[in-house]
Amino acid sequence: MTDYSNIISIAESFGCNYTENESMSEHTTFRIGGPADLFVVPTTVEGLAAVVSACNKEGVYCFILGNGSNVLVSDKGIRGVVVSTAACLNNIELIGAYEIKCGAGVKLSRLSDLACENSLTGAEFAWGIPGTVGGAVYMNAGAYDGEMKDILVSCEYLTPDGELRTMLADEMDLSYRHSAFSENGCVIVSATVRLKAGDKGEIRAKMDDFMCRRKSKQPLEFPSAGSTFKRPVGGFAAALIDECGLKGCSVGGAQVSEKHAGFVINKGGATCFDVMRLVEHIKKEVFLNKSIKLECEIRVIGEK
Ligand SMILES: Cc1cc2nc3c(=O)[nH]c(=O)nc-3n(C[C@H](O)[C@H](O)[C@H](O)COP(=O)(O)OP(=O)(O)OC[C@H]3O[C@@H](n4cnc5c(N)ncnc54)[C@H](O)[C@@H]3O)c2cc1C
Repeated sequence: MTDYSNIISIAESFGCNYTENESMSEHTTFRIGGPADLFVVPTTVEGLAAVVSACNKEGVYCFILGNGSNVLVSDKGIRGVVVSTAACLNNIELIGAYEIKCGAGVKLSRLSDLACENSLTGAEFAWGIPGTVGGAVYMNAGAYDGEMKDILVSCEYLTPDGELRTMLADEMDLSYRHSAFSENGCVIVSATVRLKAGDKGEIRAKMDDFMCRRKSKQPLEFPSAGSTFKRPVGGFAAALIDECGLKGCSVGGAQVSEKHAGFVINKGGATCFDVMRLVEHIKKEVFLNKSIKLECEIRVIGEK
């Protein structure tokens, strides 16, 4: 068992909140996941930097958690530290006429809403994606022909040593569900987006339309982590899964949604093991029937 006493005393000295053996099912939209050894909620950027750099110095695994809407945590949980951005990185402000600077813990819905209230268009696509700005930059989240790449100007981030730096959007290697942050081990602290002047009524109508489409097509009534698989070259994961007759297919409490075959849902009491067995079954069937290899969009983390 790793000794976390030094990290705990650093967290305490910076006024961070923390718990030991925190169940990750409480912090993921899938409602799945065993305990994290140490769960830290910093209240300042300094506290965040101190905890991240202490983990780095001690060689302790450190996972940055946004809203937990794109992660599947293993049943054994996480051997290491989970740092939640929710409390310390939630400032949002309008800068000049067209830019909005958001802390990484700000929910995308708040960004879309503030943009709309200020008659700024470009962030409508993010309305209804249940993540934080940090998670959205990391994933280059997108929907309905829009993605973070279209609106991002720059990010402030912490290196693993806790140093605060800035990166411009064109240095972020943004592509389909990928950014430089997927590989560089840095922590996104804030993001600035640039939008365009628009009509408030039209912006709100577009957001409402996107939300209506989500509600009618997606199984939002069940816990999930959104689309299970990335869009493969030459097709759509949901259509391929549907054509393989897998809608409704289940393993334990995990099920291919009857409403949207691209979603694996937690019907009740699903474990990570259930989801992973179902995922492997889907991948096998799609490859056998369609010769297409599906790749997970969801990030699977924790002790195997
Ligand atoms: C019902 C539903 C619908 C969805 N619809 C969409 C959709 O339309 N389009 C879409 O793209 N996604 C969608 N998703 C997936 C998910 O909401 C997005 O990927 C979102 O951007 C994840 O944000 P998060 O804050 O929840 O990140 P998390 O799930 O908490 O984390 C995701 C990854 O980002 C990293 N991360 C988070 N914050 C930071 C940070 N500050 N610094 C560094 N790394 C960080 C984490 O370490 C992790 O690797 C959906 C999910 C659900 C449940």
